[in-house]
Amino acid sequence: MASQLRVYVPDHPLVKHWLGVARDAATPSVLFKTAMVELGRWLTYEATRYWLPTLDATVQTPLAEATATFINPEIPMAVVPILRAGLGLLEGAQTLLPLAATYHLGLVRDEVTLEPTCYLNKLPDVFPPQTHILVLDPMLATGGSIMAALAYLTERGADPALIRIIGVVAAPLALQKLSATYPSLQVYVAMIDETLNEQGYIVPGLGDAGDRAFGT
Ligand code: URA
Repeated sequence: MASQLRVYVPDHPLVKHWLGVARDAATPSVLFKTAMVELGRWLTYEATRYWLPTLDATVQTPLAEATATFINPEIPMAVVPILRAGLGLLEGAQTLLPLAATYHLGLVRDEVTLEPTCYLNKLPDVFPPQTHILVLDPMLATGGSIMAALAYLTERGADPALIRIIGVVAAPLALQKLSATYPSLQVYVAMIDETLNEQGYIVPGLGDAGDRAFGT
Protein backbone atom coordinates (compact mmCIF):
# COMPACT_ATOMS: atom_id res chain seq x y z
CA MET A 1 0.00 0.00 0.00
CA ALA A 2 1.38 3.44 -0.93
CA SER A 3 2.18 5.58 2.11
CA GLN A 4 0.66 8.98 2.64
CA LEU A 5 1.75 11.87 4.86
CA ARG A 6 -0.08 11.74 8.16
CA VAL A 7 -0.73 14.98 10.03
CA TYR A 8 -1.93 14.75 13.63
CA VAL A 9 -3.59 17.63 15.47
CA PRO A 10 -4.01 16.29 19.01
CA ASP A 11 -7.40 17.09 20.50
CA HIS A 12 -6.00 17.87 23.95
CA PRO A 13 -6.98 20.79 26.21
CA LEU A 14 -3.36 21.47 27.20
CA VAL A 15 -2.33 21.74 23.55
CA LYS A 16 -5.24 24.09 22.86
CA HIS A 17 -4.53 26.18 25.96
CA TRP A 18 -0.86 26.75 25.19
CA LEU A 19 -1.60 27.43 21.52
CA GLY A 20 -4.06 30.13 22.61
CA VAL A 21 -1.42 31.67 24.88
CA ALA A 22 1.15 31.59 22.07
CA ARG A 23 -1.23 33.11 19.52
CA ASP A 24 -2.20 36.07 21.75
CA ALA A 25 -0.16 39.12 20.69
CA ALA A 26 -0.44 40.42 24.28
CA THR A 27 1.48 37.43 25.67
CA PRO A 28 4.87 38.62 26.93
CA SER A 29 8.03 36.90 25.75
CA VAL A 30 8.61 35.05 29.02
CA LEU A 31 5.15 33.45 28.85
CA PHE A 32 5.46 32.81 25.11
CA LYS A 33 8.62 30.83 25.91
CA THR A 34 6.69 28.79 28.48
CA ALA A 35 3.99 28.10 25.88
CA MET A 36 6.63 26.77 23.48
CA VAL A 37 8.11 24.52 26.17
CA GLU A 38 4.67 23.13 27.01
CA LEU A 39 3.70 22.63 23.36
CA GLY A 40 7.04 20.88 22.82
CA ARG A 41 6.28 18.61 25.76
CA TRP A 42 2.70 17.64 24.86
CA LEU A 43 3.24 17.30 21.13
CA THR A 44 6.31 15.14 21.79
CA TYR A 45 4.22 13.03 24.15
CA GLU A 46 1.69 12.47 21.37
CA ALA A 47 4.33 11.89 18.68
CA THR A 48 6.24 9.29 20.65
CA ARG A 49 3.23 7.11 21.50
CA TYR A 50 3.71 4.45 18.78
CA TRP A 51 7.22 5.48 17.79
CA LEU A 52 9.51 4.96 20.77
CA PRO A 53 11.21 1.58 20.43
CA THR A 54 10.53 -0.66 23.41
CA LEU A 55 11.63 -4.02 24.72
CA ASP A 56 9.81 -6.43 26.98
CA ALA A 57 11.41 -7.82 30.10
CA THR A 58 10.61 -9.49 33.37
CA VAL A 59 11.23 -7.73 36.68
CA GLN A 60 10.98 -8.89 40.25
CA THR A 61 8.62 -6.70 42.31
CA PRO A 62 8.84 -6.95 46.11
CA LEU A 63 6.04 -9.55 45.83
CA ALA A 64 6.37 -11.48 42.56
CA GLU A 65 7.61 -11.52 39.02
CA ALA A 66 5.96 -9.10 36.58
CA THR A 67 6.31 -8.38 32.90
CA ALA A 68 7.61 -4.90 32.09
CA THR A 69 8.17 -2.76 29.00
CA PHE A 70 11.15 -0.41 28.78
CA ILE A 71 12.47 2.05 26.21
CA ASN A 72 15.06 0.16 24.15
CA PRO A 73 18.37 1.91 24.91
CA GLU A 74 20.09 0.36 21.88
CA ILE A 75 18.06 2.24 19.26
CA PRO A 76 19.62 5.67 18.60
CA MET A 77 17.33 8.62 19.27
CA ALA A 78 17.95 12.15 18.03
CA VAL A 79 16.27 15.52 18.37
CA VAL A 80 16.94 18.16 15.70
CA PRO A 81 15.77 21.67 16.61
CA ILE A 82 15.66 24.06 13.66
CA LEU A 83 17.19 27.28 14.98
CA ARG A 84 16.16 29.73 16.16
CA ALA A 85 12.52 29.07 16.82
CA GLY A 86 12.85 25.29 17.26
CA LEU A 87 14.87 25.91 20.41
CA GLY A 88 11.63 26.92 22.11
CA LEU A 89 10.24 23.40 21.67
CA LEU A 90 13.47 21.66 22.66
CA GLU A 91 13.19 21.91 26.44
CA GLY A 92 9.78 20.24 26.51
CA ALA A 93 10.91 17.49 24.13
CA GLN A 94 14.02 16.84 26.21
CA THR A 95 12.02 16.28 29.38
CA LEU A 96 10.51 13.22 27.64
CA LEU A 97 13.62 12.12 25.72
CA PRO A 98 16.51 12.90 28.07
CA LEU A 99 18.85 10.37 26.45
CA ALA A 100 18.34 11.53 22.86
CA ALA A 101 21.26 13.25 21.12
CA THR A 102 20.54 16.86 20.16
CA TYR A 103 21.82 18.01 16.76
CA HIS A 104 21.33 21.73 16.07
CA LEU A 105 20.51 22.93 12.57
CA GLY A 106 20.43 26.69 11.98
CA LEU A 107 18.40 27.89 8.99
CA VAL A 108 17.53 31.49 8.25
CA ARG A 109 15.08 32.49 5.56
CA ASP A 110 15.72 35.39 3.22
CA GLU A 111 13.00 37.97 3.81
CA VAL A 112 12.56 38.63 0.09
CA THR A 113 13.03 35.27 -1.64
CA LEU A 114 11.86 33.27 1.44
CA GLU A 115 14.62 30.74 0.59
CA PRO A 116 16.44 29.22 3.58
CA THR A 117 20.21 29.35 4.09
CA CYS A 118 22.04 27.10 6.53
CA TYR A 119 24.29 28.94 9.00
CA LEU A 120 24.89 26.10 11.49
CA ASN A 121 25.00 22.38 10.82
CA LYS A 122 25.83 20.12 13.77
CA LEU A 123 24.37 16.98 12.16
CA PRO A 124 26.50 13.82 12.13
CA ASP A 125 28.05 12.79 8.79
CA VAL A 126 25.86 9.69 8.81
CA PHE A 127 22.99 8.68 11.09
CA PRO A 128 23.32 5.10 12.34
CA PRO A 129 20.65 2.74 10.93
CA GLN A 130 17.36 2.82 12.79
CA THR A 131 17.96 6.30 14.24
CA HIS A 132 14.63 7.75 15.33
CA ILE A 133 14.64 11.51 14.72
CA LEU A 134 12.32 14.19 16.10
CA VAL A 135 12.53 17.46 14.12
CA LEU A 136 11.39 20.61 15.95
CA ASP A 137 10.20 23.53 13.82
CA PRO A 138 7.25 25.52 15.21
CA MET A 139 6.09 27.22 12.00
CA LEU A 140 5.61 25.07 8.90
CA ALA A 141 4.77 27.96 6.57
CA THR A 142 6.07 27.92 2.97
CA GLY A 143 7.84 24.64 3.72
CA GLY A 144 11.24 26.03 2.68
CA SER A 145 13.01 25.41 5.99
CA ILE A 146 11.48 22.05 6.82
CA MET A 147 12.15 20.74 3.28
CA ALA A 148 15.77 21.93 3.52
CA ALA A 149 16.10 20.29 6.95
CA LEU A 150 14.75 16.99 5.63
CA ALA A 151 17.14 17.10 2.69
CA TYR A 152 20.06 17.50 5.14
CA LEU A 153 18.77 14.59 7.22
CA THR A 154 18.02 12.15 4.42
CA GLU A 155 21.31 12.78 2.62
CA ARG A 156 22.93 11.67 5.91
CA GLY A 157 21.05 8.39 5.92
CA ALA A 158 17.96 9.31 7.97
CA ASP A 159 14.90 7.21 7.11
CA PRO A 160 11.80 9.46 6.63
CA ALA A 161 9.58 6.69 8.03
CA LEU A 162 11.42 7.04 11.37
CA ILE A 163 11.21 10.85 11.46
CA ARG A 164 8.49 12.72 13.34
CA ILE A 165 8.06 16.47 12.87
CA ILE A 166 6.83 18.59 15.75
CA GLY A 167 5.42 21.98 14.78
CA VAL A 168 3.00 24.40 16.39
CA VAL A 169 1.14 25.81 13.37
CA ALA A 170 1.24 24.39 9.84
CA ALA A 171 0.04 25.89 6.55
CA PRO A 172 -1.29 23.70 3.73
CA LEU A 173 1.58 24.72 1.40
CA ALA A 174 4.23 23.22 3.70
CA LEU A 175 2.17 20.06 4.20
CA GLN A 176 1.70 19.65 0.43
CA LYS A 177 5.46 19.91 -0.15
CA LEU A 178 6.22 17.41 2.61
CA SER A 179 3.59 15.03 1.30
CA ALA A 180 4.92 15.14 -2.26
CA THR A 181 8.50 14.27 -1.31
CA TYR A 182 8.24 12.40 2.01
CA PRO A 183 4.91 10.53 2.03
CA SER A 184 5.98 8.23 4.89
CA LEU A 185 6.51 11.14 7.32
CA GLN A 186 4.30 11.90 10.31
CA VAL A 187 3.71 15.47 11.46
CA TYR A 188 2.34 16.63 14.84
CA VAL A 189 1.04 20.19 15.14
CA ALA A 190 -1.29 22.12 17.44
CA MET A 191 -3.21 23.63 14.50
CA ILE A 192 -3.41 23.87 10.71
CA ASP A 193 -4.09 27.45 9.57
CA GLU A 194 -5.48 28.28 6.17
CA THR A 195 -3.31 30.97 4.68
CA LEU A 196 0.05 32.67 4.32
CA ASN A 197 0.49 36.40 3.80
CA GLU A 198 2.78 37.93 1.16
CA GLN A 199 5.74 37.84 3.54
CA GLY A 200 5.29 34.09 4.04
CA TYR A 201 3.84 34.39 7.55
CA ILE A 202 1.06 32.06 8.62
CA VAL A 203 -2.31 33.79 9.14
CA PRO A 204 -3.64 33.94 11.82
CA GLY A 205 -0.51 32.07 13.04
CA LEU A 206 1.33 33.58 15.95
CA GLY A 207 3.77 35.98 14.31
CA ASP A 208 7.53 35.47 14.23
CA ALA A 209 8.07 32.60 16.65
CA GLY A 210 11.80 33.32 17.01
CA ASP A 211 11.34 37.02 17.73
CA ARG A 212 8.57 36.33 20.21
CA ALA A 213 10.50 33.61 22.06
CA PHE A 214 13.70 35.61 22.28
CA GLY A 215 12.20 39.09 22.74
CA THR A 216 13.87 40.54 19.63
N1 URA B 1 8.12 31.74 10.69
C1 URA B 1 7.51 32.30 11.76
O1 URA B 1 8.13 32.50 12.80
N2 URA B 1 6.20 32.61 11.64
C2 URA B 1 5.49 32.39 10.53
O2 URA B 1 4.30 32.68 10.49
C3 URA B 1 6.15 31.81 9.42
C4 URA B 1 7.47 31.49 9.53
